[in-house]
Amino acid sequence: MLEYPFDNIPMPGQTLEVAPGVFWLRMPLPMSLDHINLYLLEDGDGWTVIDTGIRGKETQSLWHQIFQNCLNGKPITRVICTHMHPDHTGQAGFLSDHFRAPLLMSYGEYYQARMMHYSMQEQGSWHTSEFFLRGGISQALMDEMTQARSNFTPEPDDIPMPRSYQRLREGDTLQIGQIHWDVITGSGHSPEHVCLYSKAVRLLISGDQILPIITSNVSVHPTEPEADPMSDWLASHEKFKRLIPDDTLVLPAHNTPFYGARERLDELIEHHEHRMQIILDGCASPTPAIDLLPALFERKLENHTLFMALGEAIAHMHCLMARGKLKRDDQQLIYQYSRA
Ligand SMILES: [Zn+2]
Repeated sequence: MLEYPFDNIPMPGQTLEVAPGVFWLRMPLPMSLDHINLYLLEDGDGWTVIDTGIRGKETQSLWHQIFQNCLNGKPITRVICTHMHPDHTGQAGFLSDHFRAPLLMSYGEYYQARMMHYSMQEQGSWHTSEFFLRGGISQALMDEMTQARSNFTPEPDDIPMPRSYQRLREGDTLQIGQIHWDVITGSGHSPEHVCLYSKAVRLLISGDQILPIITSNVSVHPTEPEADPMSDWLASHEKFKRLIPDDTLVLPAHNTPFYGARERLDELIEHHEHRMQIILDGCASPTPAIDLLPALFERKLENHTLFMALGEAIAHMHCLMARGKLKRDDQQLIYQYSRA
């Protein structure tokens, strides 16, 4: 059983100390996943913040409350983003500009975050529609979705990502206040996701790499239609299992802090293996990816959730293809998958 040592969650605009010098705060998200956890670390004459919240005025005004009430008059001196997703990087420009503080990220995440701004203007490209049509999406739905906006689409008054950054990479160490942190990276949910691990105080700031209740999205996207992120994801889980002892308090970006990293990683590995088995069971004869979704997802899938579910299913299918368990017939417009 995972253990959740905190009965309370921090109120909006307030922080909760979860370890000496390590403070947990929450920001709202405008989706069914309605919050993100951020962490403020005492850092000598200032503070280091881990992740920033989604763009927009609501999160910014909560940040102003935090500046007033929770920082003891000290500035934020470093901004770290675990990975590129908009709930993690949305206020990186705001925080970095406000305090003239450097942004620290991995190479893969920083450049992908900057690219997102441009790639959203490419939604109508043939690469994108070909990817989804081959998965079984209809031309009519494809046309409809091309018009829709996403969370990534920039607004005119958004403060953009900082124009420079300091690179974090696997094996780096960071001294933040009294705590010595090792940088461990994972891949699959995003390309070079940074986690911070302190062996001495048994803390892991896990971002979206390890979540206790929900599962992180692992998808193939049209920008890299032949990618195999699920193999990377499962390999990352094996790596974290080797490195993170069970008495480590895991500080995740969603849900609440918990003990039991290895148990959770085992559950997640099993979850994905189970999904791959469902796909194999469904591919006795040549089958399009979209026809497997009802067996994989209980909830009704529409619009964005349908596209996300398809990307997730394809991630599992590419992993099975890499293992030699599944084969794909590319001769028709809609790819047909069957057991190898
Ligand atoms: Zn994420």
